Amino acid sequence: MALSLYRIQGFLFRGFLYSSGKKWQYSCRASNYLRLTMRACPCGKIAAKRALPYERCCGRYVEDFDLTPAPDAESLMRSRYTAYVLERVPYLLATWHPDTRPQSLDDLAPVKWLGLNIKSIVPPEPADPNTAWVEFVARSRVNGRGERLHERSRFVKQEGRWFYIDGKIFD
Ligand SMILES: [Zn+2]
Repeated sequence: MALSLYRIQGFLFRGFLYSSGKKWQYSCRASNYLRLTMRACPCGKIAAKRALPYERCCGRYVEDFDLTPAPDAESLMRSRYTAYVLERVPYLLATWHPDTRPQSLDDLAPVKWLGLNIKSIVPPEPADPNTAWVEFVARSRVNGRGERLHERSRFVKQEGRWFYIDGKIFD
């Protein structure tokens, strides 16, 4: 997702780091993980009319991005949205193309993510098998105000892995 996204998300993550010791942070993550595996994936993907659980959807990639990279642009798009919801900064950085990747995502502001709607997917074409596009709307609440991010993201494949590289934001 775009640079603007992580900017508006900012302070929550920083506050979290400053106000908590490492130990607490890790134990919190472990219990969060157990809770997460049981519930519907934040990306909202439906299969056979049922919400997919996190562990069978984006969790496969977010929890193990070294060995299990997202296999296509849509999966990467969804898993990056999920990583924003769960504040998985290492995953966001690892799946961001080195050419456009920010140095850090320390500026995340308090955002409550409300849902993702994939509007269209342009899969790779034979002439350019390493580029794909995903257009989406991500809804959120920032300081009590509803926000809507409408973006067409570009993804590129390099050495067998898909990366987010940039996107066009619609008003
Ligand atoms: Zn998902």
